[in-house]
Amino acid sequence: AGPPLPDGATAREHRTPAGGAPAMVDVRSVHKSFGAHEVLRGIDLRVRAGEVAVVLGPSGSGKSTLLRTINHLEKVDSGRISVDGALVGYRRCGDRLYELREREILKQRTRIGFVFQNFHLFPHLTVLDNIVEAPVSALKRPRRQAVAAAERLLARVGLADRAASYPRQLSGGQQQRVAIARALALEPKLLLFDEPTSALDPELVGEVLDVIKDLAHQGTTMIVVTHEIGFAREVADTVVFMDDGRIVEQGSPAEVLDRPRHDRTRAFLSKVL
Ligand code: ADP
Ligand code: MG
Repeated sequence: AGPPLPDGATAREHRTPAGGAPAMVDVRSVHKSFGAHEVLRGIDLRVRAGEVAVVLGPSGSGKSTLLRTINHLEKVDSGRISVDGALVGYRRCGDRLYELREREILKQRTRIGFVFQNFHLFPHLTVLDNIVEAPVSALKRPRRQAVAAAERLLARVGLADRAASYPRQLSGGQQQRVAIARALALEPKLLLFDEPTSALDPELVGEVLDVIKDLAHQGTTMIVVTHEIGFAREVADTVVFMDDGRIVEQGSPAEVLDRPRHDRTRAFLSKVL
């Protein structure tokens, strides 16, 4: 049996937020501990289709853990998460939840792209094969079709001429753009970015943020953990400030970045701005 549900979760499950597109991501009352340390202390977050949510917060506040629960890389202790109307990692049976089998979890995960701080490319594969691997192995796409799609994606991230290169031959910014193309190859409903520019030299940050901005303008639903306040201001529909396992404050970029209501948000912003 799965984790306990928050009160009323069943009735609310398929309701949409007031006045707008349905929630692509719906996080309700999520708690997660590692041993005695409660890392997520009741997270509620909705992101609508086509929206970009930027998550800010100090190191250790639970940002990565939140992203990982959305992909079921971490299991929640209580609460629940759905993406595009489907519960993540669980199946409902009456009023109980049962965890999906590994195969079903992997299949679900293919609909959610994840871009990591350290790129996580396969070092022994060319750029093209890094992108082609998952569509061929996970989605059973014919290789020829996957290659054609990968070439289009490489052009989109400005790397059409690097298909035959190996990751080590690329700059960090180029590697991260390949990682984004690889995530897009699965045609995900949702893209999660965990500090996608934190490992980059400052002069390479812009080229990666530009690719993410393009995706935003094309209506990709994204949750982006980043300390790039300028990016948040320009691209975010909603800015979420987390501290100590809680969402302390959430609103438009102007509300959270220019008129923060909480001392902890102010203190954080004064450090990163
Ligand atoms: P952030 O991404 O905001 O820096 P994290 O979600 O990575 O925060 O981590 C939040 C807290 O949870 C930290 O104190 C971290 O040490 C702890 N933590 C994260 N993952 C694990 C794990 N697998 N086991 C134990 N503690 C963990
Ligand atoms: Mg983190």
